[in-house]
Amino acid sequence: MPNLKDPMLYSLFFAAVAVPVFGPKTDIQPVPFTQVHMHDGFWEKRIKLNHDVTIWHEIQMCEETGRIDNFRAAAGVPGFKHEGYLFNDSDVYKVIEAAAYILATEEDAKLEAKMDEWIELIAKAQEGDGYLQSQVSASRHTDKPMERWADNAGEHELYNVGHFYEAAVAYRQATGKTKILDAALKNADLICATYNLKGRRHAPGHEEIEIGLVKLSQLTGERKYLDEAKYFLDERGSKEGRKETFGEYSQDHQPVLEQDHAVGHSVRAAYLYCGMIDVGTNRGDARYIEATKRIWEDVVRSKIYLTGGIGSSGSNEGFAKEYELPNLTGYSETCASIANVLWNERLFQATGDGKYIDVLERSLYNGVLSGYGADGKSFFYPNPLQSVNGATRSPWFACACCPPNVARLLPKVPELMYATDSEGIYVNLYAASDAEMTVKGQKVSLHQGGNTPTGDLSYIDVHLEKPTEFTVRIRVPGWARNQPMPGNLYTTVVPQTANYDVRVENQRVKSELKDGYLIIPRVWQDGDQIYVRLPQRPFWVKSNPKLKDNEGLVALQIGPFVYCAEMSTAQGESLEDQRDYPPLLSRYLVDLKVPEEDPLKGWGLAPGLDTNLFEGLPTPWLKCMYAARKLDGSIEGRAASPISDHAGNSISFIPYFAWANRGRKEMSVWIPTAPEKAFPLRADTIASMSPMTVSEGSQGTASIKDQLVPKSSLDQSLGNQHWWPKKGTKEWVEFMLVDNCEVSSVKVYWFDDTGVGECRVPESWRVLVKVDGEWKPVEDAGAFGVARDGFNVVNFNKVRASGLRIEVQMQKGWSTGIHEVVIE
Ligand SMILES: [Zn+2]
Repeated sequence: MPNLKDPMLYSLFFAAVAVPVFGPKTDIQPVPFTQVHMHDGFWEKRIKLNHDVTIWHEIQMCEETGRIDNFRAAAGVPGFKHEGYLFNDSDVYKVIEAAAYILATEEDAKLEAKMDEWIELIAKAQEGDGYLQSQVSASRHTDKPMERWADNAGEHELYNVGHFYEAAVAYRQATGKTKILDAALKNADLICATYNLKGRRHAPGHEEIEIGLVKLSQLTGERKYLDEAKYFLDERGSKEGRKETFGEYSQDHQPVLEQDHAVGHSVRAAYLYCGMIDVGTNRGDARYIEATKRIWEDVVRSKIYLTGGIGSSGSNEGFAKEYELPNLTGYSETCASIANVLWNERLFQATGDGKYIDVLERSLYNGVLSGYGADGKSFFYPNPLQSVNGATRSPWFACACCPPNVARLLPKVPELMYATDSEGIYVNLYAASDAEMTVKGQKVSLHQGGNTPTGDLSYIDVHLEKPTEFTVRIRVPGWARNQPMPGNLYTTVVPQTANYDVRVENQRVKSELKDGYLIIPRVWQDGDQIYVRLPQRPFWVKSNPKLKDNEGLVALQIGPFVYCAEMSTAQGESLEDQRDYPPLLSRYLVDLKVPEEDPLKGWGLAPGLDTNLFEGLPTPWLKCMYAARKLDGSIEGRAASPISDHAGNSISFIPYFAWANRGRKEMSVWIPTAPEKAFPLRADTIASMSPMTVSEGSQGTASIKDQLVPKSSLDQSLGNQHWWPKKGTKEWVEFMLVDNCEVSSVKVYWFDDTGVGECRVPESWRVLVKVDGEWKPVEDAGAFGVARDGFNVVNFNKVRASGLRIEVQMQKGWSTGIHEVVIE
């Protein structure tokens, strides 16, 4: 084999294995990451961080959490036993794959030695016939041997080896070493001999092996691995010969060629769609590609966040129903955004359509990067679009799929920049970089300068030996031409003029856009310059009305970056500070009248205060209103904020990817535009103005004066004051009345969770007032009602008092609680 560490040879080798082995496909090829060198600040910094910090952090985590010792246990090394999840092997494989991509571009003897050490262990752990799964293999050395492939739905034996194959191919290409590849091929041969129409019938519960098998096939030219990948695809949705099927969760509800909706676990789904395109392109079978194109339409129509995240539901880590995209509980796993990038990259290569790069770019700059902390060693698993209490990224997870997925994506980001086909070059992403490629047999170098992706200007110098005719396709992103996302799930609030400017040798390119590209056919001369200006002005995005969670809300975007507002969280619900209870941010609303006239009017467009964190991107602030409840119950917008701990009546926006890097803060991507869509401040009532205490040994809560009326006594969605687990005792809540005011009535809405818990309406209650420092019962009071599902009103003789106490005698053996109190 050639020395694959030589970039040019690597490129030739890569190109040789990447061209279709069997049958036609589009001839679009990415320019390999080894041929694209970033010097843009944004990606260059992250690729370096990944090498300097992330990969070593993840190596340490794998070793500290037993993931490497699991292979020792599998090899029968005395003193080691398997621990953790069965799919933990995949984290190790992904780290090896990430390390391979790093080693393909940079010498690092220490990293290579560490990987060689791991690979040695993996090879030792492998069983004689090629089988490898550390937990099952380790069990051979105990008195409880496990059965192989016993549970294809729940376990991840076929998933793990998919990552094994990807790691093996990457490491072989990066280092020229064959040990891990030999092991992977031996395993793949076993899988091919085991799983087939005459052997075991199954679709893997978690897709991934299909991608790995196609890579093995491309590297070796062995068709059987490609056929095996197709076999696994075709088993999906088939009941024939199978003991069980796994339903929508594993996209096993329907044959893949008939699928047209995104369902189930979103990482499984997107890996499946990648595998379908890999098989379709390598076999020249367009049906597989067409099916994923239909599914993609379903996703952009109704199942993707503005951040490019997919899989909104935590319960299945996956897709929910159409237009079901909650912000606070949005799952949007980091891995799902990465898988979405991989899927859209393939869709672009299969079609040449820039709309797929639009989605790829959105996922990459927002959904993926949100999952990666600025320190390079902390990660989010879910990436919600709203957080009331703030969040902190974690160094690792028990199920640690996301961190090594980030590590293996980052070194390959340069590969997303450019592509070539028989006609010429595609420029897909903008960031300063040097790239080398071959076009029409000519070696062409592109030198991209400018300030993208955080600014709006790119200039691309074309270098080549002799004048050559080819086309350059310049992608004009959707965000630069009034289309935040393909489809109509998200649209601009105020239509934006598409005022991008593309020039060649200072001549404006006036061609029509085709599939998102300006096509420039030309006899290119050495030194020709392409100038691309894609204005990065802030614009508001709104959602399709069918997306109910975003009704009346808008989000800010600048260039490819989705923004969020981030604000210090309130100091909790201390009884001393009950006027300011969280959530603070959701009380604010933007007054769109100002931006409608001029998107920049009212804006402070200061560059990011923390240039390292915000990459010099603007962190705009905007004057806002806040919502307040009036005494009649209606909600109005008020201009000035009474909340003092941050810039008065403005809120500032930061790029979403950078949230939660400055401590725990309240965050929201979507901001209300109408008072009734915001969480209102309470109206000034006697109860809301009066500091409150509760009987000793109890937790007080301001929710009894939050002016939110429950649907019933049982309704637990709004919070309540209860005394559980105390039972049968006498308890009280007390209001320190402001300004010795006059009171003449009290309304109480009791909390009673009959059928669910141990709270019941009280046996009896009374109201006392504090007059001249003495507590006494109110006079001439009516009945003290204990009805459920509504207010119980007590009127009494008007009295000027400094305090009011509601004293509650609980029923014997039962506790009680209060939803809401109104004092008049
Ligand atoms: Zn993950």
